[in-house]
Amino acid sequence: MKPRQKYSAFALVREAMRGHTGWPRAWNSPLPSKRYDVIVIGAGGHGLATAYYLGKNHQIRNVAVLEKGWLGGGNTGRNTTIIRSNYLQDASAAIYEKSRSLYEELSQQLNYNVMFSPRGVMMLAQTHHEARGYQRINNANIVQGVATEYISPEQVRELCPIISISGPRYPVLGALWQARGGTARHDAVAWGYARACSEMGMHIIEQCEVTSVRTEGGRVVGVETGKGSIECGKLAIVVAGHSGVVAERAGFRLPIESVALQALVSEPIKPCLDVVVMANTVHGYISQSDKGELVIGGGADQYNNYSQRGSFLHIEETVRALVETFPIISRLQMLRQWGGIVDMTGDRSPILSRTPVEGVYINCGWGTGGFKAIPGSGWAMAELVANDQPGALAASFGLERFREGRFIDESVAAGVAH
Ligand SMILES: Cc1cc2nc3c(=O)[nH]c(=O)nc-3n(C[C@H](O)[C@H](O)[C@H](O)COP(=O)(O)OP(=O)(O)OC[C@H]3O[C@@H](n4cnc5c(N)ncnc54)[C@H](O)[C@@H]3O)c2cc1C
Repeated sequence: MKPRQKYSAFALVREAMRGHTGWPRAWNSPLPSKRYDVIVIGAGGHGLATAYYLGKNHQIRNVAVLEKGWLGGGNTGRNTTIIRSNYLQDASAAIYEKSRSLYEELSQQLNYNVMFSPRGVMMLAQTHHEARGYQRINNANIVQGVATEYISPEQVRELCPIISISGPRYPVLGALWQARGGTARHDAVAWGYARACSEMGMHIIEQCEVTSVRTEGGRVVGVETGKGSIECGKLAIVVAGHSGVVAERAGFRLPIESVALQALVSEPIKPCLDVVVMANTVHGYISQSDKGELVIGGGADQYNNYSQRGSFLHIEETVRALVETFPIISRLQMLRQWGGIVDMTGDRSPILSRTPVEGVYINCGWGTGGFKAIPGSGWAMAELVANDQPGALAASFGLERFREGRFIDESVAAGVAH
């Protein structure tokens, strides 16, 4: 592979002059080597970020990322890209805020425009219970040093003129507002990390499903894949909705459920919404993409499944719920809908942990809200894999918390859950 070309205004002009014939491939796609120091299963954002920080922070570069489909084709490419860090518990606020702050400089770090847009995220309080919950989170965030604010209905309308704040069933009573929250371009996050990993000499191998994990004396020695056996010193499982399946292949069980979560977009319209709004009571959230589509997220299926697709029920439920707060939706045509399989833990917090198999580490349980966590999670996971011990960011998120009853309850802050 040709060395990576630095993306710059100068490179763009040069390539425009020569018909764009000089761009090298963004990442390599080699056949697997016999052995790697670390194999990461899953080329979603979390797996790629894990590999990237293994190389960047810990100089571990003999790494392969194995992906059963195409890079970023899991939840990373299917989510609604909300980024915020106003969670309730200290451990969550720390990892999500680390992540949000890494997003601010990610484009420069990766030399790849991930289109981070800190346009502000508001979580509407539409019942008194919800208002109290968000005020409580706001107080916690002040102590944690996370910049959020509880704002009035009038401030909500000022920030978002298309909202009806005086709906008959669910009037807007206030909102939890994080001005430095926002969105990023989901594919670009995966592509940017992949390109940077490739530049460090790592292998990103697509169409390569891990079908079993090989162990000797309780320690991992390699994996079987659709492209043959590959040996490894350590193995990081980072497969989101398929965590239970892959963990079983490694010989242990996880306290996790997999369900489909759905989203849809409207036809493109003129700019009318320059913040992200989450309406958790009615169960919907909305932002406007650069193309003009309203990106609308709904709920998760009520039963466990692996069907990565949308359903009519969710379009109807989500749109019906949002129409009272956003009356303009009733005039829009919906364009597309889809689903992704999310991995839910009982306390709605992630798992970054060693496992019963020596040398195998698991990163999962980000559920419906892990896109925002990609840089922070990759940072913390790399630390765990490199040192065989969690650092401060991951210390509370071990599997043992379920046995010991030390839950990190984020069911309120996760809300509709992004
Ligand atoms: C509709 C929807 C909306 C969402 N909205 C938001 C949001 O607004 N904000 C937010 O923060 N989060 C959101 N999320 C959640 C977020 O998308 C996920 O938490 C995050 O993307 C998980 O990233 P990941 O890298 O862990 O998983 P993924 O991107 O799913 O990557 C895992 C990869 O592992 C691969 N894999 C699985 N099994 C194997 C195997 N055996 N061998 C090899 N590879 C394997 C898969 O093919 C997949 O590519 C949303 C999710 C959905 C579905």
